[in-house]
Amino acid sequence: MSDAPRPAERSWWLEEALALPEFAGPEAPPLQEDTAADVVILGGGYTGLWTAWFLKEREPDLDVVVLEADICGGGPSGRNGGFCDGWWEKIRDVRDVYGDADALELLMTIGRSPTEIGGWCEANGVDAWFRHGGDLAVATAPEHEGSWDRMLDTARELGVESEYEVLSPEDVQGRCASPRFGGGVIIADAANLHPARLVRGLRRALIERGVRIHERTPVRRLRLGRPVLAETPAGTVTAADAVIGIGAWATWWKPFKPRLTLRGSYIVITAPAPERLEELGWTGGESVRDLRSSLHYLRTTRDGRIAFGMGGLQPDLARRIDHRYDYEERYARRVARDLYRMFPNFQGVPIEAAWGGPINVSGFTTPFFGTMGRGNVHYGLGYTGNGVAPSHLGGKILAALATRADDGFTRLAVVTRSPKRFPPEPFRSPGAFFANTAIRRKDDREEAGKRVGALTRFVARLPRRLGYRIGPG
Ligand SMILES: Cc1cc2nc3c(=O)[nH]c(=O)nc-3n(C[C@H](O)[C@H](O)[C@H](O)COP(=O)(O)OP(=O)(O)OC[C@H]3O[C@@H](n4cnc5c(N)ncnc54)[C@H](O)[C@@H]3O)c2cc1C
Repeated sequence: MSDAPRPAERSWWLEEALALPEFAGPEAPPLQEDTAADVVILGGGYTGLWTAWFLKEREPDLDVVVLEADICGGGPSGRNGGFCDGWWEKIRDVRDVYGDADALELLMTIGRSPTEIGGWCEANGVDAWFRHGGDLAVATAPEHEGSWDRMLDTARELGVESEYEVLSPEDVQGRCASPRFGGGVIIADAANLHPARLVRGLRRALIERGVRIHERTPVRRLRLGRPVLAETPAGTVTAADAVIGIGAWATWWKPFKPRLTLRGSYIVITAPAPERLEELGWTGGESVRDLRSSLHYLRTTRDGRIAFGMGGLQPDLARRIDHRYDYEERYARRVARDLYRMFPNFQGVPIEAAWGGPINVSGFTTPFFGTMGRGNVHYGLGYTGNGVAPSHLGGKILAALATRADDGFTRLAVVTRSPKRFPPEPFRSPGAFFANTAIRRKDDREEAGKRVGALTRFVARLPRRLGYRIGPG
C-alpha cells in the first residue's frame, strides 16, 4: 500500500499563508487582563471577523474585541475548499423551506457576497487568489444525469433560470476532461479563493482598524446578563453585546444542541502540475462538484494544483471534536484515491498534504442567526459545509443585530426561522451516523454501477422523510 498523505499543520492553505509576513502578523496576544468593550465576539473565523468588519462599517468608534481559542483561521475558515458561492445550487431546498418570496430574497442577498468578497480583497490589498470561475456540478453516475432538471424547474418558476446553464457531456469535457464526468450544469455566479489568505487578511485589516484580537484565548464561560461577561483563562471581557461565531464548537452548547449535528470533511492537495491541468483543459478556474450527497469538491489553485475534498465523512458517532477531525488516515487515503481515479493523468503527481475539519450541520442546511440572553447575545451557526460566502452575509446580519438596526438583514428568513430540531440522544448521534453511512454507501455503489440494496436506500432517504434537507430526495 502506498504511503498515506502527509498530515498538514492545520491545512496546507494555512501553512502557505503563515509563511508570509502579511498573513502571519501582526501579533494578537492572549488576553491577560480584565477589560471592557462595546461588543465581544467569540470566534476568529469568517463569521466573527466579518461581524467585526461590518460593526466598524456601521459604527467606526465601536470598541470591538475578538476572542479566538486557537489562531484566527485555525478552524474551518482556514481549512476549507475555498468555494465561494451562494445558494443557487440548493434553490429547491431553500424554496421548500422558506417559501417563494423569502427564498428569492435570500438567494439574491447571498448572491451578492461572492462579488463583494472579491471587491473587498481588492480594496484592502488582500491577495486571496480570488477567481470568479463559476461552479460546475457534474454527473459521475447514471443516476445523476438530468437530476438538475428539478433545480432548473424551480429556478424557472422563481424567474432566475438565467443563473444556470446546462452542459452536455462534451461541454463538460471541454471545461474539465475527467473520464468520469458526464453532463452537468454550471452556475456562473460563483468564485473560489485561498481560504486562509482571506481569513488572515481579514484579521490584519481589523487590527489596522483598531479591533482588539486575542488569539489562544478560549472563552470558558459566557455569563448572560446586562452587561455580558466572557471568561477566559487569564482575563475577562465585560461588554454590552456578545456575538457567538464559534462554528462546530457550539454543537454542545445548550441553546444550540437541538439544532446542530457534526460531520467531517477532508481535503488533499497535489503538488503543482499546471501542464497536467492544461491536458485536462481545466484552465478556466471552475470550482467542480459531483452530484453525490456525500460530495466530492475540487478546484485548481493559482500555482497549478488540484485541491480535492470530500464531505459527509464521520470518524465516529461525532459526540466531540478531536484530532480525527484534523486528520484521519483512512479518509486521507480515500480522498487521494478518488482524486487519482477522477484524474488518472495526475498519477505520479504527489499529494503534498491532507487535512480535515468539522462541519456544523443544520437541519435545513442553511445557517441560522438570532438573539438570546437579555436581547444582547447574538449567534450565527449551522453553515453545513457552505460558509465561505454565507458567513459574509452572516457578518452583515450579526452586525445589524448587535447595533439594533431593524433593517432588511435582521428580517431575513434565516433570522426569523429556526431550523428543524434534531431528535435528542440517544437517538441523534447513532441516527446521524447510520444515515450518513448509508448515504455514502448509496453514492459509492451508484458510482461503481452496482445495485443499491433496499435497506441502504431506505436509511439514506430517512433524513428527508423526517423533514430534514439532508441526503438524497
Ligand atoms: C474541510 C472543509 C471544507 C470546507 N469547504 C468549504 C467550501 O469549499 N466552501 C464553503 O462555503 N464552505 C466550506 N466549508 C465550511 C466553511 O469553512 C465554514 O462554514 C466556515 O468557515 C464557518 O466559519 P465560522 O467563522 O462560522 O466558523 P469557524 O471557521 O469554525 O470559526 C470558529 C472559530 O471559533 C473558535 N472557537 C471555538 N470555541 C471557542 C471558544 N470557546 N472561545 C473562543 N473561540 C472559540 C475556533 O477555534 C474557530 O477558529 C468547509 C469546511 C471544512 C471543514
